[in-house]
Parts: sequence; C-alpha cells; structure tokens
Amino acid sequence: TRAALPTADELAAGVRADRRAVLARAITLVESRRADHHELAQRLLLELTPPPGAAAEATVRVGITGVPGVGKSTTIEALGNHLISLGHKVAVLAVDPSSTRSGGSILGDKTRMGTLAVNPRAYIRPSPTSGTLGGVAKATRETIVLLEAAGFDVILVETVGVGQSEVTVAEMVDTFCFLTLARTGDQLQGIKKGVLELADVVVVNKADGEHVVDARVAARELSSAMRLIHPRDSLWRPPVLTMSAMAGTGVTEFWAEVLRHREVLQEAGEFAARRQRQQVEWTWSMVRDEVLSRVERSDRVRAVRADVEAGVRSGDLTPALAARRILAAFDGAGGVGVGG
Ligand code: GDP
Repeated sequence: TRAALPTADELAAGVRADRRAVLARAITLVESRRADHHELAQRLLLELTPPPGAAAEATVRVGITGVPGVGKSTTIEALGNHLISLGHKVAVLAVDPSSTRSGGSILGDKTRMGTLAVNPRAYIRPSPTSGTLGGVAKATRETIVLLEAAGFDVILVETVGVGQSEVTVAEMVDTFCFLTLARTGDQLQGIKKGVLELADVVVVNKADGEHVVDARVAARELSSAMRLIHPRDSLWRPPVLTMSAMAGTGVTEFWAEVLRHREVLQEAGEFAARRQRQQVEWTWSMVRDEVLSRVERSDRVRAVRADVEAGVRSGDLTPALAARRILAAFDGAGGVGVGG
C-alpha cells in the first residue's frame, strides 16, 4: 500500500516557509511520473505560481553552459557565495541529459560546490533522471516555480552542451551564459555556432597565470564572431568577458552583465514578453511530447511500425507517406486527430 500523500495546501505552506524536507518532497513529486503524483504536483504548482506582474519578474533565472572542465561549478560556487553575501538566496539546478542514460550525473554534484552546498541560503539539486530531455526539462521548469515560491530569487541552471540541452535551458532562463576557454583562430571553429547564437553573455574562463593574454585574444576574436551573429541594431549585443573563477577575478563583472542584460530587456518590455513566450512554448512542447509518446505507445502503430519502416528502408515508401501511414494507424486507434 502507498503512503498517504500530503495535500497541496500542506505542501504549499511548507514550500513557502522554505522547509527543506517539504521542498525536497515537492521536487520529487514534480519529477515523478506516477499519475497521482502528477495531479498533486499540478495542483501545487497552480497554488504556488504567482500572478503575472512585478513579483513574478523579481527573480533572476540564469543558464550556464560549457564543456566539462571549463569551470562551471567553480563559477557557480564563487558567484553563489558572492550573491548570498549580497542577501540573495541562490538555487542551483542541473539539466544533464547524459544522466538519463547512464543514471549518473556529470552535473549538480554537491561535492563540487562544497562551500555553497553547506550554505543555508543555497539549494543545490542534481539533474532529474526522468528518461528524456523533455522529461528533464519539464521537471526542471516546475522545480524553478517551487524554488521561487520558497524565496530563492536567483536560479542558476547548469548544463553541458549535450544534444539539445543548451536550447532547452536557454528556453527556461532570462539570461543564457556560455563559458569557454581561451581558444583562438582555428580552435574557434570547434565552438558550436548554435551556442553562440543562444548566448546572452560569453565568458572566457581560466584567465589567470600564463593564460591571461591568450584569454584576452580569444575574447577579442569571440567578440568579432558575435558581431557577425548579432546585427548592429539588435537590442542586445552579447558581451564577451574574461574571468578567473578560481581566483575570483571578473566574477562580479560577469554578474553585472547578467543584470545589465536584464535591465535592457526590461526597459524594452522584452523581459516579460520573453517569459510569456517561454510559458506558451513550454505548453506546446509538453503537447508535442505527449502526442509523440501516445503515438509510440499505440498498439495499432506498433502493429504497422516494422512494415512501414521496412518500406522506408527499401525505398517503397517515402518518409512522408510512411508518416501518413503511422498517423492513420494512430487515428484508427481513436487517438487525438493529428492529420491523415
Ligand atoms: P565544470 O566541469 O565545468 O563544472 O568545471 P569545474 O568547475 O569542476 O573546473 C574544472 C577544473 O578547472 C577544476 O580543477 C577547477 O579547479 C579548474 N578551474 C576552474 N576555474 C578555473 C579558473 O578560473 N582558473 C584555473 N586555472 N582553473 C580553474
């Protein structure tokens, strides 16, 4: 028999009071795939979501991406401690699609952020491991709502650039930051162009010791690359900074750029618009995930799947015709109509 679940009211009160055991329980609920958990989690989220307006926009959601070893956790620890000293409450979340496959997370390991992890004004949560990137994204977005209700006013979402994870995180934050190392010339080609298009702030880390000059040269080259991506008249042209997370130099300047980005968006009315667009996009991405999973689970689709795929491989069917067959089979199963 299953233990009785708390009520949404009980959970909401505990989350608002930032009782960590309740917060952890609530996060576990939004990560769960059980139907009764899902329903309770959605009631809790409705209760905790603030009405649109100033209060809802008072929090700062920042994404931080970069390859393993670039210095994300060192940066987050330095930044987190600094922000807490200014009076903020800081939550760190991770979106790590590799953890859904391996069961082990590269990110969100508390031992990597020792001093931050033990700070009572910080909360560090590793990546959920709920199967797909879509599932991880859903849980992470919902966890942000819980953390903000618990009074965390700075949310840092960390990800490594695996698959689509950068896009996913960029779509759930206000400011998306790309951490890189001093690469120049040909090495610059190794940086995914997509991540430069998503980045609002670019930071060349490990600008210390013998790497200071390299880092500055790299920052100048990245700056030129960014100018090509963002036309002169764009609202925000992403700055490229140098930093040493280890030495703590450039960390406050980095944060100042995050806040400047926020101000520019707010003054242009883009900040609220961006969050609203994210909510609508989030809605549709859940619809897409759910429809796709219903199609894949459908018995009638399963019945035709092997034949249709064989037809595509042999060239007897075009992919477009094959897609129609699959959808027709699904419609025959009495599912939602998705064309035919
Ligand atoms: P992550 O994998 O991106 O989270 O990277 P970490 O923060 O774990 O850092 C990887 C390694 O680089 C660690 O050994 C850090 O001590 C080191 N590191 C991080 N930031 C700096 C920095 O600014 N300068 C130098 N020299 N080393 C750094």
